[in-house]
Amino acid sequence: MYIKEVAASLYPWDLADEGVDRCIDNVTGLASANSLYLIGVMHWEKRPLTGSFYPHNPVRKFYIPENSRIYYRVSDKAFDGMLLKPVKSERDFLNGTDWLDTLSGAARKRNLKMGVELSHTIYDTAKAQKENPQILQKHLDGTPVGGGSYLCLNNPHVRQYITTLFAETVRNHDVDFIQTCLLLFESAGAASINSRYTSGLERMMHTVNGGCFCQECRHKALSKGYDWDLILHDAGRLSTLVNAEIGEARMDKDLLLASGLSSAGLLLEFPGVYQWMAFRMESIKEILTEIYNAVKAADSKVEVRLNHCFEYQEFMGLRHGDLKDCVDSVRDSDYSEQTGNPDRLIVKQRQIAKIRRGVGFDKPVLASIGIRPNATPEIIRESIRRAANLGIDGLSLGHYDGASIANLKAVTQGMQEAEMEILP
Ligand SMILES: [Zn+2]
Repeated sequence: MYIKEVAASLYPWDLADEGVDRCIDNVTGLASANSLYLIGVMHWEKRPLTGSFYPHNPVRKFYIPENSRIYYRVSDKAFDGMLLKPVKSERDFLNGTDWLDTLSGAARKRNLKMGVELSHTIYDTAKAQKENPQILQKHLDGTPVGGGSYLCLNNPHVRQYITTLFAETVRNHDVDFIQTCLLLFESAGAASINSRYTSGLERMMHTVNGGCFCQECRHKALSKGYDWDLILHDAGRLSTLVNAEIGEARMDKDLLLASGLSSAGLLLEFPGVYQWMAFRMESIKEILTEIYNAVKAADSKVEVRLNHCFEYQEFMGLRHGDLKDCVDSVRDSDYSEQTGNPDRLIVKQRQIAKIRRGVGFDKPVLASIGIRPNATPEIIRESIRRAANLGIDGLSLGHYDGASIANLKAVTQGMQEAEMEILP
């Protein structure tokens, strides 16, 4: 079968430590990549994530990135008068270089597709907590959700910052695609397959422990005709029940969990929670559409790609059917390979089906392949064999920094075994 693309991500410190050409040689030569992208804004997350130490970095054993720094040039003028402004790296080995231009320059010499990702948090969340806590998503009781690492996507300052950053990125750099894995509305773990919840009912119940119930959300919901009083009333009732440890509410919770009620049954009992879920979905469609329009206005040729990064993103406000209107392609970000358990590959199959159902067949869907520690060459090859039967348009490798050479080679081997070829 034919695909269009094998994408590989690189971090600025990979390029600084290993050298740009060596990184590109490895992902193209060993793993058949014909598309590269820089993680141009990276959140505060240890690298490599699923192993303790780097397998092939000659300079350091591991790396702790700064919180959501931007590793390429953007025009300060474009952010004049805005509450939020891009924050640049303060580390000497990174801050004198435009890493996006560096990678794209090298990629173009080899005729490779070139992209950039703006990852999860997009703005220094520690700085936001200190200086502008009003822009953070809030629980029902007004405290920040998710440890203060979620910006409210209905806050006008946040929207202005995000759309300007996306537009400035494509306006000033040579990229074919821009990828977002923006954190949507916080779900109190309901969106992740790795959370402790064992049923759809539990996921639905706990979502009210997420966000957002801030004043900006209230204003927007009211302006769109939602009944905010009902939302607060029903979300409050469900929250009391979900968080009950003692007393009558605890008994009610025990009975509810024992009942095996469906999520639909729960929403019928708490119609305000359904309204809140619908409002969140309308909000996410709006921000994704604003990002799409901002990118296209800056450079109409640039492809907007969503990195679908949690298994149940409907609990974060994503309605998959909206995707066909506000992105050009989707990267499924399932990394089941790195669990070391081939049985988990069924998750990828479901994710691809869910995304395809939403985005349709006119737009490319790429399957991610986890090549990090705990993934083995055997699982990677098996995953690619299965992906070949899922109607995918490409692969996207995550991530080079933690991948052994054997895992990189397994991508090319898996493609050969699956009779998967890149269209010229
Ligand atoms: Zn909000």
